[in-house]
Amino acid sequence: MSAARTVAARIVVVGTGYVGLTTGACLASLGHHVTCVDVDAAKVARLAAGRVDIMEPGLAELVGRGLTKGNLAFVGGARDAVRDAAAVFLCVPTPMGAGGAADLRAVEVVVAEIGDALPSGCALVTKSTVPVGTARRIGELLGRDDVPVVSNPEFLREGTAVEDFLGPERIVVGSDTPGAAERVADLYRALGAPSVVTDAASAELVKYAANCFLAMKLSYVNAIAELCERLGADIDAVTEGMGHDRRIGRSFLKPGPGWGGSCLPKDTSALLRIAESVRYDFGLLAAAVDENIAQRDRIIARIAGAAGGDLAGARIGLLGLAFKAGTDDLRDSPALSVASVLCAHGAEITAYDPAVAGDLPGMTVADNAYRVAKGADVVVVLTEWPEFRRLDWHYLAALMRGDAVVDTRNLLEPGVVLDAGLSWQGIGRPRRA
Ligand code: NAD
Repeated sequence: MSAARTVAARIVVVGTGYVGLTTGACLASLGHHVTCVDVDAAKVARLAAGRVDIMEPGLAELVGRGLTKGNLAFVGGARDAVRDAAAVFLCVPTPMGAGGAADLRAVEVVVAEIGDALPSGCALVTKSTVPVGTARRIGELLGRDDVPVVSNPEFLREGTAVEDFLGPERIVVGSDTPGAAERVADLYRALGAPSVVTDAASAELVKYAANCFLAMKLSYVNAIAELCERLGADIDAVTEGMGHDRRIGRSFLKPGPGWGGSCLPKDTSALLRIAESVRYDFGLLAAAVDENIAQRDRIIARIAGAAGGDLAGARIGLLGLAFKAGTDDLRDSPALSVASVLCAHGAEITAYDPAVAGDLPGMTVADNAYRVAKGADVVVVLTEWPEFRRLDWHYLAALMRGDAVVDTRNLLEPGVVLDAGLSWQGIGRPRRA
């Protein structure tokens, strides 16, 4: 597609987390006039001063540029901000609520706050991940025929949020109001991305269908890794052989300690509840969730085995806490889930993550990787930070009390670890000692 010119619009973004701040800063970089709103007054003040406190490459620069240029602003009150908006993007949290369904209270609070202040014709856009039927429900809450509700799910990944937003594989926009989805898709026209313009329910479902597919892919790979161990095969070779097939693709084919993060656990749970609400038994997805718990339990058993069979009093050093490399996000991190089970079994835990500072419940958080090895019986790699590969494994071995390394990401070069006099156990690969 040719680089189309953007017709600048007045946009309000509500919620300045990973999605909202990225959306606001990126839309401003496309030439729109963007006002970002958040309930967290201290955060608004920091952002207005150009201080970005989440780890996203390029985001602080974009925020700084927008502030300097004058087409990006941060304010505390949504009602005043929306009065002359052409579109309002809701980027507030939709966490897992009681019973496993998405908790829509933040969305409802904002709709109640701004509903009658929205100018006629302004599109109210959900970028938050919301259950199918939410656009319709928002429409009922609004009670206005002159404000179209549009679903525009977001697919950015933490750690590459700006790159993903500005170079999306697709834009998905859906509305039941004729022309409204097209108008919102137009805001992105300068990106030249393919757009899927559809009805609201389909757009809402795309996001869950995509995330749950990825979760199922990861559970599948973890299950195949378990089979590899039992059958004497090597998961690296198996996934290499699978990944050449373009129908399968190479991404999301690495085994690990189980999937987590701020999206996949809550979105799988929400889609299961959505399926239940229409009396569909989504056994396939439920099995993927069960497999994820089984994978975590297999990792715990592996660590216990490496510690000599008993976790009580064992000293375990954890390398990595974030749910994946490149982010500081700890929400629903599998590393924290593993740590909490180890802790419940009486293990003493010291952990290090390059993006995390300050102690966490049940563990000491060290300020460098070697501290976790000091006196440790087992060192466990839980997040795939590339810098763990470059550690001085001889030095690390000298600091340890035991000699076991459990590498739940198949990140390390086993030969290097063995050379240091340690044993190495990955996932779906033969144990090396
Ligand atoms: P987040 O927790 O990082 O940020 C949410 C922000 O909203 C916070 O700053 C919070 O203070 C603010 N907020 C809460 N209630 C508010 C209110 N009533 N008014 C104004 N601001 C309010 O959340 P996130 O990770 O950016 O996720 C937001 C949504 O986007 C969720 O629905 C999530 O599922 C979806 N999503 C997230 C990602 C991701 O990778 N994080 C990717 C795609 C979609």
